[in-house]
Amino acid sequence: MSGHGKTLSVMVLTEDSGADAYDTVRALVKEMLKLLVPAVWTHRIDFKPLEDERARLAMRGTTWQSTNPLDEPARRLLIRSIITELLKPNGFVLYHIDGDVPWSQRESSANVREFRARMIPPIEAGVRSQLPAEVETRMKRLRLLVPFYSIEAWLYQHTREATRLCAEEGCGRCQSQLADWEKDRASLDEVTQPKETTLCLKDKHNARLASSGFPAGEVFDAKASFARTVDGLLDCDELTAALERTCATSGPPSP
Ligand SMILES: [Zn+2]
Repeated sequence: MSGHGKTLSVMVLTEDSGADAYDTVRALVKEMLKLLVPAVWTHRIDFKPLEDERARLAMRGTTWQSTNPLDEPARRLLIRSIITELLKPNGFVLYHIDGDVPWSQRESSANVREFRARMIPPIEAGVRSQLPAEVETRMKRLRLLVPFYSIEAWLYQHTREATRLCAEEGCGRCQSQLADWEKDRASLDEVTQPKETTLCLKDKHNARLASSGFPAGEVFDAKASFARTVDGLLDCDELTAALERTCATSGPPSP
């Protein structure tokens, strides 16, 4: 067990390379875990980024699906880091990649297809070589987080905070767009390249949008990519059980 009183460790990986990318995805993950187990004490979860600098190079953008031999060493390091985490008694890996297509075209997502083709087999082989009898349950501890079209499809769901940020620090003209999304939250999953084509905020406030009062329940109820990702986490019984253990022992509740 790593860290005082930690009952599970969750490595949070993201294809985004911005300075606040890890904090943003970690904040969204916390909201998802609270939907899975409302009583969870998230301060008892040992969240961690990928530490290995070279492995991080492979994680960024689409380098992890590169077939260039020059990228292979970093790719192998990334794969090795994930295997190491999955082999730990209470290790989980949540990995964000963008769908890169609208939600209605999700079955055609090349990113998801490539992840299954290029990442899952070597990870599974590595786990099998160490824990052949547990490979199926251990592989379930690797869950994909896939927003459609991109992570902003989730972040811009925080319409109240985005409206305030636009009014106070932005163009002051994004309010009606945000109101439309608030009325039909699933429609945001149909926007191609929301970061590039919609709000003045771009990705400037992503970590803030992910944390301060993110309306996770309402976004889940939209039954689009956020809900499917949360449902995907439910496929891992060990994750739910570990989350329940965070609140099964004495200590102060999560802030
Ligand atoms: Zn604006």
